[in-house]
This record gives sequence, structure tokens and C-alpha cells, in this order.
Amino acid sequence: MKRYSVFAVAREAFRYHQGWGRAWKSPEPKKKYDAIIIGAGGHGLATAYYLGKNHGLKNVAILEKGWLGGGNTGRNTTIIRSNYLQDASAAIYEKARSLYETMSQDLNYNVMFSPRGVMMLAQTQHEIRGYKRTAQANALQGVSTEFISPEKVKSLVPIINIDGPRYPVLGALWQSRGGTARHDAVAWGYARACSDMGMDIIQQCEVTGIRHENGQVQGVETSKGSIDCQKLGIVVAGHTGVLADMAGFRMPVESVALQALVSEPIKPCMDVVVMANTVHGYMSQSDKGEMVIGGGADGFNNYTQRGSFHHVEETVRALIETFPIISRLKMLRWWGGIVDMTGDRSPILSKTPVGNIFINCGWGTGGFKAIPGSGWAMAELIAKGHSSLTEEFSLSRFKEGKFIDESVAAGVAH
Ligand SMILES: Cc1cc2nc3c(=O)[nH]c(=O)nc-3n(C[C@H](O)[C@H](O)[C@H](O)COP(=O)(O)OP(=O)(O)OC[C@H]3O[C@@H](n4cnc5c(N)ncnc54)[C@H](O)[C@@H]3O)c2cc1C
Repeated sequence: MKRYSVFAVAREAFRYHQGWGRAWKSPEPKKKYDAIIIGAGGHGLATAYYLGKNHGLKNVAILEKGWLGGGNTGRNTTIIRSNYLQDASAAIYEKARSLYETMSQDLNYNVMFSPRGVMMLAQTQHEIRGYKRTAQANALQGVSTEFISPEKVKSLVPIINIDGPRYPVLGALWQSRGGTARHDAVAWGYARACSDMGMDIIQQCEVTGIRHENGQVQGVETSKGSIDCQKLGIVVAGHTGVLADMAGFRMPVESVALQALVSEPIKPCMDVVVMANTVHGYMSQSDKGEMVIGGGADGFNNYTQRGSFHHVEETVRALIETFPIISRLKMLRWWGGIVDMTGDRSPILSKTPVGNIFINCGWGTGGFKAIPGSGWAMAELIAKGHSSLTEEFSLSRFKEGKFIDESVAAGVAH
């Protein structure tokens, strides 16, 4: 067994402590960075991490107006899956899912990845056809999914009611290597790794303006002063339109509030993730025992980061129909996040009309699962100017009509 001296342990403990200190204390901004990333959510932090790890670009700052992971990254229901229909989506989501498998080791930080299996219930003939088609597409893409019978559904989830009053369960699309991870830990793990590489994570630092000259980015104005940079990544989810406006271009995204809620903790009763798209509700059980429940998105654009009663009522009604066992469960709390929706329900990872400004957004209701793949691809795009994973997700697809229609795979809020 390897032995460590008391001095070495104390030094490592000090370094570890310093690592946290850097991330939390918000260092003073430097004069000029090779790259600035706006937004310390999962996608922004992962982008910075892979810029350093894969491309050696470490003179990087991540600017965050609030706190690490305080946006959608710390507000989601943590579902991870890659069973999308289109090839471009399968490539980036499966890259992300596979990176989740080794993320705890890679970051030396336990993100509690739990590949417990994700099932999407088919409750109409239309859904059966849609999911069978997705399973076939996934087989060709090398993504392991299968369409399973109602009996298999019941054996995997004994608490489910497969003879629902309105919509019986007719089968499900099952991805056994899908699952969940601890959302804050993903942000914290990436942040600590970025900090260890010498990057500056500057919290409570709101970007209020973007400077560019002759079509090239020069830097940003912030609540802590002006900072220069060579390259700029805008990774701000629901605030994409606001930041794009500062840079002088428009984005085809809309911002809406999406909600979730959790129950009081109960004994373990369900060890897979279940999504019921037709009645609209999805549920998993956290390690603490709470039932984590996903609700719906508002039908109107807004920047409201809170829940509303009618969504709770609709979501709980749908889930009681699917899981009658939860009818007397008390709900602990509920909340909302501002998600950024595109028309084809696919993300945008792209260059922009301003030189050296790159944008990553449009993950809508389903971007937690994509964090490592998105960061990997975005870093490549920023460092090299192109990435095979982002090609089809460029802004130009809206001009050319080359949409990546994922309205079925992303038809439920997750
Ligand atoms: C209720 C809910 C449930 C969800 N469930 C799932 C799920 O189960 N599975 C899944 O895959 N996805 C899910 N999602 C979606 C997922 O959370 C998001 O797609 C993902 O977290 C987006 O990450 P991000 O890093 O792009 O954005 P965020 O985490 O929102 O980070 C953006 C950051 O930018 C910062 N920012 C904004 N403006 C500025 C500025 N001017 N200056 C500096 N910083 C700024 C914000 O403060 C924020 O911290 C859910 C979302 C919600 C709201």
C-alpha cells in the first residue's frame, strides 16, 4: 500500500481547501483572458473544463451573475438518457451519457451518477409507433434501447398502474443505461477541476455589455468592471436573448418557466426513472427518498423562476393516475427554472454573426443530460473553430430549414 507522510497529507488538504477557496471566493478579474465563458451552469463550466483539459486553453474566466449552478443546472430533475431520434442528437447525447459514466473518476468528485434505467411510457397507439421508430433509429446509431411490453414495465416498476383509467400502459421505450446524477455535484465537480487548472470562476459578476470592434469581440462589461478577451462563449440558457441583444444579434429562442417538485422522503419504492408523456408527468426517487417530480412548462414566455399552483395540480393529477400509491404523499417544495426553447426542440452550438463569439443554448427542458457532451463539443468549437458534434446544431440551420426535429423525443419536460 502506498504511504503518505503527514506533511504530504497536510499539503494536499491545504491545496484542496485552496481549490474550493478559488472557486467560491471570486478572484479579481485579470486584464485579458484567452477565453471568457458567460454562465457558470453545467454547460458553461463543462465548456471551460474541456477547453483546459482537451485543448490546453487555461487562461479562461467563467463569469456568473449568481452562484455556481444556481440556474437550471441546480433546478432540474436530473434525468440522463440519449434515446433521441435524429443522428446528430444521438451523437451528442450519447457522447454525454458515456462521459457521465466516468465523470466521478475524471473529476475526482462524486457526481452520484446512477444508471438505473429510464423508461418512457407508451400510452397511445401514436406513442407506440413513435417509440418503436426511435428504438430502431437508436439501434442504427449504436444507442442501446428497446421497446418493452406492459408486463415488463410492471416487473420493473411494481408500483405502476398499467390499467390507468384514461390511458393504460401499452409498452415503453426502455434505456437501461440511462439514469440520474446529482445536479449540483456536476457543477461543483467541473468548477473545482477548472479552478485546479488555474481558471478564474467569478461569481456575483453580471455581464452587462459586450464590446466588439470591426466584427470581432473585444471583451465584456460587468458589474465588477470591464474585462478583455480573445474569445467569448455565451452559455446562459434562459438569458440567451438578453446576452445576444448585448452583442447585437437576435436568437431564435424563447424563454419560459419550467417547474418541478419533490415529495417528503419515503422508503425506497421505485428504482428506475419513469416518464409518462401523454398524461404529462415524470418521477424518480432520490437517494434521500424524496419522489422527484417533473412538471410542465408555462404556455407563455416569461422569466419567472418559481412554481405555480395550476402546474402542480395538473402534474400531481397525472402521476396519481399512473402511481395511485402516491396519492397521500405530502409535497415538500416546488420551484421553476427559465428554459430556452428552440422551434425544433434541438440546441444551438454555433458561431455567431460577431467574430469569436460562440453561443451554446436551446437545451430547453432537457439539457442536464447533455452537459459533458455539450461542453466537450463547445470547447472544440471555440478552440478549433469547428467540431463534428456541433456542425448540424449551427445557427444557419434556421435559415436553411435544416431543422433537427426532436419534438417527439423532447415532447415531455425533462
Ligand atoms: C424544472 C426543470 C427540470 C428539468 N429537468 C431536466 C431533466 O430531468 N433532465 C435534463 O436533461 N434536463 C432537465 N432540465 C433542463 C436543464 O436543467 C437545462 O437544460 C440545463 O441545466 C441548462 O444548463 P446551462 O448550463 O445551459 O444553464 P444554467 O444552469 O441555467 O446556467 C446559465 C447561467 O448563466 C447565468 N447568467 C445568465 N445571465 C448572465 C449574465 N448576464 N451574466 C453572467 N451570468 C449570467 C445564470 O445565472 C446561470 O447560472 C430541467 C430544467 C428545469 C428548469
